[in-house]
Amino acid sequence: MDKKECCECGIAYSEEELFSLQVSGNAEEIDPDDAYDWYAITLGWALAKDMTAKQAHEFARHIRYHTDLG
Ligand SMILES: [Zn+2]
Repeated sequence: MDKKECCECGIAYSEEELFSLQVSGNAEEIDPDDAYDWYAITLGWALAKDMTAKQAHEFARHIRYHTDLG
């Protein structure tokens, strides 16, 4: 699958596909009532993947606001 640059932040995140699989793909389990903040959910996942705090915030912002994954 092609990793294309986000037109908002100009970055092609290699983690996006894994996030889609592991988190977005489990949205029914994680957040069945669409009640949680997906910025925070994404941030926690990114930190668990050993991103730095800065990288994790940038990734969370990207997922939450630039994609339909979060
Ligand atoms: Zn982006």
